[in-house]
This record gives sequence, C-alpha cells and structure tokens, in this order.
Amino acid sequence: MYKKLFIPGPTHVREEILQAQAVPMIGHRSKEYSDLQAAVTPKLQQLLYTTQPVFLFTSSSTGAMEAAIRNCVGKKCLNTICGEFSRRWHEITKANGKECDVIEVPLGKAILPEMIDEKLATGEYDAVTVVHNETSTGVMNPIEEIAEVMKKYPDVMFLVDSVSSMAGVKIEFDRLGIDVLLAGVQKCFALPPGLTVCAVSHKALKKAETVPYRGLYFDFIDMYKFYEKNQTPATPAISLIQALNKQMDDILAEGLENRWARHKAMAKYVQDWARKYWALFSDERYLSLTVTNIVNTREVDIKALNDELGRRGAMISDGYGPLKGKCFRIAHMGDLTLDDLRWLTAQIEDILKLS
Ligand SMILES: *Cc1c(COP(=O)(O)O)cnc(C)c1O
Repeated sequence: MYKKLFIPGPTHVREEILQAQAVPMIGHRSKEYSDLQAAVTPKLQQLLYTTQPVFLFTSSSTGAMEAAIRNCVGKKCLNTICGEFSRRWHEITKANGKECDVIEVPLGKAILPEMIDEKLATGEYDAVTVVHNETSTGVMNPIEEIAEVMKKYPDVMFLVDSVSSMAGVKIEFDRLGIDVLLAGVQKCFALPPGLTVCAVSHKALKKAETVPYRGLYFDFIDMYKFYEKNQTPATPAISLIQALNKQMDDILAEGLENRWARHKAMAKYVQDWARKYWALFSDERYLSLTVTNIVNTREVDIKALNDELGRRGAMISDGYGPLKGKCFRIAHMGDLTLDDLRWLTAQIEDILKLS
C-alpha cells in the first residue's frame, strides 16, 4: 500500500513532481540541456539568497560532503559532531587522509559558536564542518551565530551540511559567508533521491586551486568550468533536474517566506503534540524546524506502531542509531502540510489510545 512518508528522507513526493521526470530524454551536451540548467540555476540562487555558483551533483548528499573536504581542506579540518550525520563528515575527512580534530557534544545538544571560536583561535585550521540540522537528534545548530564567529576567520572555509534544512528553512548563503552549502534533493526539496544542490563561494573556488588531489568526479575547478557553459563535467541526472526545475517553480510560487513559515508552523505543531503526550529529546533552545525527535516515554513498540501506521498509509522513523527504540522521529519537511501532520498525530493517538 502507498504510504505517505513522514520520515526525514526520502520525503513525500507529489504526483506532479514524479510526472515532471517523465519527459523525453535530451543529450547532456545539447542546447536543450544547457537551457534547462540555465533555467534552474537562478531559481536555486534565489532560494539560497546568493549570486555565487550553485552546482548540481549527481550523487546523494554524502558525495558533495566528500567533495567539500577534497576541495577545501589543505591543512587541517575542524569537524563539529552532534550526532550521526555530523559524524559522517569526520569519517569522510579521515577517509580522505586529511588532518582533522573534533568538537563533540552529547546527543541532543547543539554546537555553539564559542566552541568553534576557541579552536579556530589556535590558527591550526583552514576549514570547519558544521551540520545545520542534525537529522539524527532533531537539533538545529545556531548557524547565524556560528556565521558571526566565522567572520573573524575569513581564511577558514565554512562548510555547511544543510541536507535536511535547505528549502525548508531560510539560509542566506552570501550574508552568512558560507563557503560550501549542500543538500540532497530527497529531503526538504521533496524530490526523488539522486541529486545534490551545492552552493560554492568564489572564495572556496580560489581555495580549491591551492589544494592538490581534489579527485576527478567533483573537482570544483572542473565543475566551475562546465558550470559557466550551463553543463556538468559528466552526465547528470537529467530527469531529476527536470523535476527540480518544476519543483523550484512551485517553491517560488508558494513564496519563500510562506515556505519558511509553513515549516515553522508544522514544527511548532509537532513539538506541542510531543510535549503533550511524550517529551522532546533535544535542547529546547535548538529544536529543529524540519524533524522532531520524540522520547518514547510510553515505551511503545515503535515497529508495531509503524506497521499499523503503514496499514493506514503513513510511515514515521525510529530513533537513529543509539536512540533506536528510545525515541521516534516525525519529519515535517518538504511539501507536507499542517493538515497532513494533524492527520498523522490523530492516527497515532487512535492507535495507541492516547489521552
Ligand atoms: C540524510 C542526511 C545526510 C545523508 O544524505 P545522503 O543523501 O543519504 O547522502 C547527510 N546529512 C544530513 C544532515 C542528512 O539528513
């Protein structure tokens, strides 16, 4: 049976978006393709409040995370860890043979600007990785405050994973001085997986010129050469880009401010519901606007709950990694609506006879 996805990726994809992929194939070196990329790029720049390049990577988000490390770390990277996805960036840094150190906070806590400031003051680092929204714990790191600190260190690359927040939460790339900002399209963009949107600053392009062994598939310098011709170095996921182009029209038609407001309203609704019947796992000051991590205070069988939700046409997520069984997560991102969430919570109340 069809299940509406309330999981933090892949998210629910609307029928019109699925259909937007089903158009005749075009050659990736053709004018038709360049026209497509030329059409979608300014829409992405508008979404990210930037005039700088926005690349399209045919890979999931992890590929672009690796690209950021390979292109932007020459000396030593500071990896900030507040859960499983921010930890992935540390694993990637090590796997690419780059020097690195870690700031780690307990699950449910946020990375704070002063922690980064203290480390960067040593002058040892030329890059920092930060996850904006830690999908595994439901924490949203204070990116604005972190950006303020980063302004003190203009030579340090500011690398941000916004996989589960881009297109759901306002992130002003240029104003915040971010150098790499990436997100796979299967989360707040509400598209099928396989493509990653990646804004790259001119400063990051300059930096990449100084970093040897950037790899081949996602070499920023090569990407930029093709980007200027509205192309990509290798064959891109053309069908997904067709869908992205349609989705960007829909996102801009909704209105960016309306989209941010809808995500805030959905987050508030789920957080209030969680406080009423359960408890929130993460620091109240840094709750995510796109996914809520709820403590399983009633010790229900999450799998059984999800099985019954499945029969009713919905799916939620178990806790991630060490939080499996102890928590469950409801995503409220992409094209979901407040009505969808009201329906979902009513189903859960009914199944578990909550009162
Ligand atoms: C989902 C997710 C990833 C991994 O994305 P893939 O597209 O599966 O590579 C990375 N970071 C965050 C914050 C995520 O939510």
